[in-house]
Amino acid sequence: MIKSLTLLGSTGSIGTQSLDVARKLGISVKALSCQSNIDVMEEQIREFNPEYALVTDEKKAELLKIAVADCDTKVLSGKENLAFLAAECDADIVINALVGMVGLVPTVAAIKAKRNVALANKETLVAGGELVMRLAKEKGVKILPVDSEHSAIFQCLQGMNKQEELKSITLTASGGPFFGRKRADLESVTRIDALKHPNWSMGQKITIDSATMMNKGLELIEAVWLFDVSPNDVNIVIHRESIIHSLIEYRDNSVIAQLGLPDMRIPIQYAVTYPERYESPVGELSLAKIGTLNFYEPDYETFTPINAARNAILKGGTLPASVNGANEEAVGLFLNDKISFTDIMDTVCEVSETFNLKQNYSLDDVLEADRFAREFVRKKFTV
Ligand code: NAD
Ligand code: MG
Repeated sequence: MIKSLTLLGSTGSIGTQSLDVARKLGISVKALSCQSNIDVMEEQIREFNPEYALVTDEKKAELLKIAVADCDTKVLSGKENLAFLAAECDADIVINALVGMVGLVPTVAAIKAKRNVALANKETLVAGGELVMRLAKEKGVKILPVDSEHSAIFQCLQGMNKQEELKSITLTASGGPFFGRKRADLESVTRIDALKHPNWSMGQKITIDSATMMNKGLELIEAVWLFDVSPNDVNIVIHRESIIHSLIEYRDNSVIAQLGLPDMRIPIQYAVTYPERYESPVGELSLAKIGTLNFYEPDYETFTPINAARNAILKGGTLPASVNGANEEAVGLFLNDKISFTDIMDTVCEVSETFNLKQNYSLDDVLEADRFAREFVRKKFTV
């Protein structure tokens, strides 16, 4: 098993659960990062005694330096140091639990430094999947999925002999808080309604993505890159209980699924200990207690962001980066009560249908596509 890790985004939902795993398995923590939550970061420094702690917000970093002056940890500031931690800090694995495109440059930095990456930060693969996977192959680096659906597929694939044997992948989706509603019912939903996820407690951005079902669209693109499958071979099924985390179908039509209670500490731990397994703090699954598992077709007419994501990856190039950037910006505006819930859905569809794209892109092309899409969204809503 690995002995040490660097954790980017340590104060978030995946970050704090990653530290639960590290604590339980006795893995040492070399570096932590957060944007601004220095109270939680201070507790983490006192417990894990990392070499580095990065707070990207400069003012908050100054306050943290004072608060932990009695500790050995070096406090850094500034976004550019995310890549420094990912590459230079001598850890066996980098867990990327950042939210959003800010995770792309540090992921690339970790791969270039030949460090394996446990990747929760799905936006990284959505925007720059081709580049990230090519680089990882070149450097012999493993990208280990943390997203529960992708961890499930990764676990099911452990029995695969040859890539040609894999016929399709099915991602399960809870359906989010608005399952069963139609477009007209969604026009006036509020931030508070959208932040109520039925099965998972997660950061705000992914919770909104789950409500619009953009999350499943992002996961479709993530699956294409992680498992080298065509977008048309990735299916989606609504499964309200979130017990089956995803399934694969082999060419003989045998289907393999991974099940467990909805708790991210199983996929986080598997990414960190792969290919080994250890006891985890997660409870045992009792199917008899659950009784019934339900499945439905997604409502593609209402939850249009899934179509936008599929369209973006089918067209390829920088279009997924544009759609992802537009979504991030629109979700931010919705969370600040500047636009409506359906504005998010309409914006990602508009970008996927109308934006130009560049094939064979560089990192700069991806960053430019992201920047341009965000500016488009701000102009569209004149904020
Ligand atoms: P979160 O909002 O709870 O935490 C994000 C972390 O990143 C925090 O530590 C925050 O300080 C840091 N951060 C945010 N913006 C930053 C910025 N601009 N610069 C530097 N640091 C920044 O998010 P989360 O729910 O933990 O999700 C993290 C990633 O994992 C996302 O990509 C999400 O889609 C994915 N994911 C999350 C879950 C889940 O259960 N939470 C499940 C599957 C996948
Ligand atoms: Mg997921």
